[in-house]
Amino acid sequence: MSEEEEQVTNDSPRAEPEHEFGFETRQLHAGQRPDPNTGARAVPIFQTTSYVFEDPESAAAYFNLQEYGNTYSRIMNPTVAVFEERVANLEGAAGAVAFASGIAAQAAALFTLLEPGDHVVSSSALYGGTVNQLKHLLRKMNVELTWVDPDDLDAWRGAVRPETKAFFAETIGNPAGNVLDIEPVAAIAHEHGVPLLVDNTFATPYLCRPIEWGADIVIHSATKFLGGHGTSIGGVVAEAGTFDWSNGRFPVVADPSPAYHGLQFHETFGMYGYLMKLRAETLRDLGGALSPFNAFLFLQGMETLSLRMERHVTNARRVAEFLQGHELASKVSYPGLPSSRYRPLVDKYLPGGPGAVFSFDVAGGRAGGQALIRGVNLWSHLANVGDAKSLIIHPASTTHRQLGDEELAAAGVGPGTVRLSVGTESVDDLLWDLERGFANVAATLEKESAPA
Ligand SMILES: *Cc1c(COP(=O)(O)O)cnc(C)c1O
Repeated sequence: MSEEEEQVTNDSPRAEPEHEFGFETRQLHAGQRPDPNTGARAVPIFQTTSYVFEDPESAAAYFNLQEYGNTYSRIMNPTVAVFEERVANLEGAAGAVAFASGIAAQAAALFTLLEPGDHVVSSSALYGGTVNQLKHLLRKMNVELTWVDPDDLDAWRGAVRPETKAFFAETIGNPAGNVLDIEPVAAIAHEHGVPLLVDNTFATPYLCRPIEWGADIVIHSATKFLGGHGTSIGGVVAEAGTFDWSNGRFPVVADPSPAYHGLQFHETFGMYGYLMKLRAETLRDLGGALSPFNAFLFLQGMETLSLRMERHVTNARRVAEFLQGHELASKVSYPGLPSSRYRPLVDKYLPGGPGAVFSFDVAGGRAGGQALIRGVNLWSHLANVGDAKSLIIHPASTTHRQLGDEELAAAGVGPGTVRLSVGTESVDDLLWDLERGFANVAATLEKESAPA
């Protein structure tokens, strides 16, 4: 090993030119080789805020972005860098930047390319926290927003304005399980010189890689399936590196930046221009950096990503089939069911299965939904998804509590809608526990309909 190579810690093992490593190999190795100084096989947790410079010249080169080196852990950290490199590798991206949460990742991804007066077109079928963020945060930035039905290609096309700077959608949307037709939506965005941003949280790169279908920027809440064990909050933005930021629509990325002494990010860094700006400006100025310890936990989770996702998917399919056959359940939104209108899109974009988060309606409205939640025990009643443990929530009692029945309907949520995140337990135990929940629903409905 040459001296130069020895200093590189965040480098992947190299595949020979005639051999490409598979996903299961890369989820274990991408972005890391054993630490050359200590031989540590696991990724070390570099729990440090800052890094000693060799001399004033190299310090200056780092701060000028003439050389890439560690300065301060708000901007970069070697443990976080392995996580970023691993996500970028699995998504087929040029690179990635990690954040303290999925919401921070989304805010930063948009903030980097938007200016006051701009316009964003977004799918309306999104995670609730994202709906709030887009609705209120963008307005504060004086950016306008148009919601579109993600299934309606004409709506995407019709919403574009001269000031439009981004299309935003989720691979698998909430709560109807909409599967995004990524390829034509990306094509419409590109016809207008606009990038497509896709939140790939529910699919993970194991089940779908949106960049392969034309998406430009992929965002994750790593809190969910990437981490996979419900321990840590974090997010990440990966960029394909192929979007032409100098197409005239994005002076904010292409022109000399006053926030970085006149640096022209796109011209200077080429395919890494957007990512460099995302890190050196947006992460620097908004903060929201991922902690090295959380990066370590995400890396632990990602080592088994494919194994967990396969199991999540098989269990989800079994649970969806069980619910579809249940007399107290209806409107099972799992897009993997043969009856789903999204089945052709699942076959195209998600051949390994459409994840493990979906909703259904319990008979008896609010009372029915609540009775089911009270009746189950193994399913954890909480507001999260993507844990190896199975999770359940009744939106009308929790996340959507403030809404009346009509507003609920507009959000695509019924009074009896229950959302599941199917975990990796023995599936028979999950069905057994749901059956106990339904027994409680039946008892509650009987009591309600009994004459007083
Ligand atoms: C959880 C989630 C987010 C927000 O991520 P946090 O890590 O909670 O900030 C964004 N999008 C989707 C699809 C999510 O599930």
